[in-house]
Amino acid sequence: MMETQWTTHSPEETAEKAGLLLKDALASPQAIQAGIVFALYGDLGSGKTCFAQGIASALGIRQVVTSPTFIIMNEYRGTLCGFRHIDLYRLERPEDALAIGIEECMDSPGITAIEWAERAGDLIPDRAIHVRFQSQPGLDERLITVQRK
Ligand code: ADP
Ligand code: MG
Repeated sequence: MMETQWTTHSPEETAEKAGLLLKDALASPQAIQAGIVFALYGDLGSGKTCFAQGIASALGIRQVVTSPTFIIMNEYRGTLCGFRHIDLYRLERPEDALAIGIEECMDSPGITAIEWAERAGDLIPDRAIHVRFQSQPGLDERLITVQRK
């Protein structure tokens, strides 16, 4: 288990960290082929979407990446590979994650980022990069903890 921890002080800084992690992950062509999964955890407003935006911009995606809370999944074409952004906030049961096809998404080449990943239960693969966001009311500070096997 590898663990990294950062404190960021602005949305830009959080997006920058996403870019760093992405660059790291993209160094392995096998990982891209297998599907790189960022499992994102944290309360509303803690920075998950901001992190996903950082990934998109590092992939050269110019479209505005908004939270897919209502439509569950957005898909973008990046310069190097595709990016799928999933938000499970509205998911009621892990079984429903199966129904919307998140396994297929995660196992496709490219990048998948999943907000509220805990709602997918054990569908999240072992190779996932887990990113936890902690915030305190009224502060711009975010504690970001990254864990991976
Ligand atoms: P989530 O997707 O976890 O609900 P968002 O990324 O949509 O959260 O929102 C995070 C909010 O917090 C944004 O309004 C952003 O501007 C603000 N913010 C303030 N400081 C930070 C920081 N250090 N990192 C990320 N977002 C921050
Ligand atoms: Mg969000």
